[in-house]
Amino acid sequence: MIDKTRCSVQIAIVGGGIVGTSVARELSKYNLDVLLIEKEAEVGWGTTKANSGIVHGGFHEVPGTLKAKYCFPGNQMFPQLCEELDVSFKQNGILMVARNEEEMKTVEQYLERGLERGVNVRLLSREEVLKLEPHLEPSILGALYAPEGGSVMPFELAAALMENSIQNGVQLLTENPVTNAWVEGDQKVLETPAYIIKAQVVINAAGLFADDLARMFGDDYFTIRPRKGEEYLFDMTTKDLVKSTIFPVPSTKSKGILVIPTSEGNLMIGPTGDDVLEKEDLTTTTDGFSRILEGARSLVPSIDPRKIIAQFAGVRAASSRHDFIVEFSPNIPGLLHLAGIESPGLTAAPAIAADVVQMMKDAGIKMEPKIDFEPRRRKVIRFHRLSRKEQDQVIKENPAYGRVICRCETITEGEIIDAVRRGARTLDGVKFRVRAGAGRCQGGFCQPLVMEIISRELGIPFEQVTKRGTGSEQIRYAAKELLTREVEQ
Ligand SMILES: Cc1cc2nc3c(=O)[nH]c(=O)nc-3n(C[C@H](O)[C@H](O)[C@H](O)COP(=O)(O)OP(=O)(O)OC[C@H]3O[C@@H](n4cnc5c(N)ncnc54)[C@H](O)[C@@H]3O)c2cc1C
Repeated sequence: MIDKTRCSVQIAIVGGGIVGTSVARELSKYNLDVLLIEKEAEVGWGTTKANSGIVHGGFHEVPGTLKAKYCFPGNQMFPQLCEELDVSFKQNGILMVARNEEEMKTVEQYLERGLERGVNVRLLSREEVLKLEPHLEPSILGALYAPEGGSVMPFELAAALMENSIQNGVQLLTENPVTNAWVEGDQKVLETPAYIIKAQVVINAAGLFADDLARMFGDDYFTIRPRKGEEYLFDMTTKDLVKSTIFPVPSTKSKGILVIPTSEGNLMIGPTGDDVLEKEDLTTTTDGFSRILEGARSLVPSIDPRKIIAQFAGVRAASSRHDFIVEFSPNIPGLLHLAGIESPGLTAAPAIAADVVQMMKDAGIKMEPKIDFEPRRRKVIRFHRLSRKEQDQVIKENPAYGRVICRCETITEGEIIDAVRRGARTLDGVKFRVRAGAGRCQGGFCQPLVMEIISRELGIPFEQVTKRGTGSEQIRYAAKELLTREVEQ
């Protein structure tokens, strides 16, 4: 039997998705001993990496739900949060488009809902909508406009939240799934393959697996039902097709198929909303694609599927309560569930995290503000966004920014080195942080070069560089010389 390392912390967060990392950062504002435990090699690889990246307006959610309670306040927190963490965020606005009289009546109901909540929303006539978005289906009748809706790179945000949390004293344990949990007196104990961790408070932010974690403690009062959403991403030539995120009028089950300009500018269409049996069913399907294309073209007819460069699916953690579950367990004192955080969980996460602080205070945890809390992380150099003059200056200061590694997205060696120094450990970690390998060739050209940089920076053999953690090594033996020579030619 392996002798496991034993440790003790005040607060253990299980799950490094957008919810866990947001909570980690909020708690890092206080003098607390906090550990975040993640089963994957890096944070943000659960549902957080596979979603639409929309910062919702806050007018969709049914009144009285926790989704409504957290969505609009979350939306309002994004500009400052992304500014502090230097994360790409665009307040590109949301349009909910009506295609007939009946839909127009529904749009008016959403307008009322938004106004009651204090959301900045207004109705636009057909002419106003088409002036704003000339590529929309010309027969539309009008739309609800929410200018404060936005778009963010969810993984980039989770990674930035974690980086800033670590900067402020939070500890991170990756590649350690919690496999068992129990209560010992007033402590909760978490077991991973390498550790036995005791904590005064356990925060369950395990996303799709939040019910499994609860059950490890013998807490069995909710279940998570996976609901899959497929998404299709276009190349940069689609950059100017629409500026706002385009929604249809939602059905009772979902917000419908959307046309989404990502915060980088290229388009995405999706998602579907299909109940699935497996929590990790990340397959994309021809049926899903047809439904998405049809839905997206009913909003923007000129969408051209030949420009699609990537497809993926994410799985929503819908709860048996049909709402978020944000509460201390009624059965296990000190076990806080942040479960069932389906859409709009990305938008709601900062507000949920702020509420967790209040819940801790209410539970009698001593919350002493940290006087040296640093809200900002070091600025990221995004080479392709700089002017020619700025690029020259950056290269002068650090020649690694003069070597383009990812040609599709113009990502330099300097940016990749920086990503690794900020915490990237894998090819996916680099790709999600700086987009190396996210362009049209999907890493076909730059992958060996990125591997070489990761290997050098982490001081590990080339063949030990992985795509997404142990078991996903890209080559069996060191063919580094051959690979890098070929791509450099
Ligand atoms: C297709 C799709 C589109 C969406 N679009 C939007 C959108 O546009 N806007 C929006 O606001 N919301 C959107 N959402 C919802 C949003 O993505 C989620 O609400 C959010 O990502 C949930 O974050 P989370 O941290 O709860 O879960 P996750 O990101 O899944 O994080 C949970 C983490 O826990 C870890 N974990 C699980 N079990 C264990 C264990 N036993 N031990 C250690 N670690 C463990 C996982 O590896 C994972 O990293 C969308 C969702 C989907 C699926």
